[in-house]
Amino acid sequence: MVSSVDFEKVSGLVDVPENAAKLLSRAERQQILTLTLRTGHDEVLFADAYVVYYNTSRGPAKGGIRISPAVTLEETIDLAERMVWKTALVKIPFGGGKSGICVDAEKLDMFVRTGLMHEFVHLIYADLEDGAYIPAPDLGSRPSDMAAIYGQTHMTTSVTGKPPRVGGLPGRKEATGRGVAYSARRAIEDVLKQDITKTTVAVQGFGNVGSWAAQFLSDWGARVVAVSDAQAGYHNPKGLDIDALRASADRTGLIQESGNAETISNDELLGLEADVLVPAAVENVLTAETAPKVKARLVVEGANGPTTPEADEILESAGVVAVPDILANAGGVIASYIEWRNAKSGSITDREEVFESLETVIGRAYDEVMALAGSRKVSLRLAAQAVAVEEVVGAMQDRGWV
Ligand code: NAD
Repeated sequence: MVSSVDFEKVSGLVDVPENAAKLLSRAERQQILTLTLRTGHDEVLFADAYVVYYNTSRGPAKGGIRISPAVTLEETIDLAERMVWKTALVKIPFGGGKSGICVDAEKLDMFVRTGLMHEFVHLIYADLEDGAYIPAPDLGSRPSDMAAIYGQTHMTTSVTGKPPRVGGLPGRKEATGRGVAYSARRAIEDVLKQDITKTTVAVQGFGNVGSWAAQFLSDWGARVVAVSDAQAGYHNPKGLDIDALRASADRTGLIQESGNAETISNDELLGLEADVLVPAAVENVLTAETAPKVKARLVVEGANGPTTPEADEILESAGVVAVPDILANAGGVIASYIEWRNAKSGSITDREEVFESLETVIGRAYDEVMALAGSRKVSLRLAAQAVAVEEVVGAMQDRGWV
């Protein structure tokens, strides 16, 4: 398993003792589960599921539930590891975990989908009840899935990303996109040194993360010139109507553009003329083949792992600055932390307070990463990894693990 962290380079910036590196090179716990659900007289649905706790030195394993036919154990391990660095970078007292359910949830009706969530709870019930695992929505899962899990656990405080009417947090569903938009806004000022109202943006993926990132950037005056989902992409150099696109996605599950936009592919979107590129769909879209075509000067990673290491080098040598996933998309975990804390204390936080807190927390991490990148003349990705690794190594030392 290849780590998303380049430990050789990180060791040049912070001290990583050999035993710490060994511990961090593997997941603490990996579970392979089989979900079975009787769906008819002689029909049974089988689905592989994976639950990974990568490192819990800083707290319980936090990580979303990915529902996709493409999910694998390897991918779940990679995503769980990224959660370790993300929570550490933004200093949220959680460890890193993730789970994946290998099924095409879009093809399931509501009853089967809910039943599948209930089965998932049966298999990991103890961990949810005692707070060892803290789930949230990820690619393919929704707040209503969290509501089904929450009910089935007799309303444990562990489940986050629930709808506000079912113990959820106002602003949680927008939180990851809000953090992506905020990181982009900061980097537009600091890196591009330009006004957001004079900035053009292309967003790949128009689900939870991409649609809200596009919405906030557009609200703040940026011109969103391209968006896409798994089926279609649209480009209009004059700017797209994000409210209308969000309304069509809410209605039909897919984006539809009725104006003057041209249709483009997902690969074409990556190479468009735009100041900022926000990959917010799936991993490994910026590769050795696609990276040389990128014209944006700033890449803000909404998705987890959208850039391969080869693409990262190509972008860096072309002078393209990347705001890494563990910083840019940390808004979701920050909001999940507020939701988890409120569930324990009985506090209530409104949407604006949630946005304010997440901007303070991401802003602090952003400043720390920028300062280290500037003083050591390294990329934002390497600086972010160094800050996160130092935090996790320190926690493992505090606990006497290494
Ligand atoms: P989502 O399921 O809500 O939306 C995914 C979007 O990507 C949809 O528009 C879908 O049509 C599109 N898509 C799917 N496959 C695609 C492909 N091959 N090419 C182009 N577009 C494709 O998922 P999401 O929650 O928005 O998650 C998107 C990314 O952000 C994932 O990498 C996820 O791990 C990451 N992320 C999500 C959260 C969160 O709070 N939801 C938090 C942090 C990171």
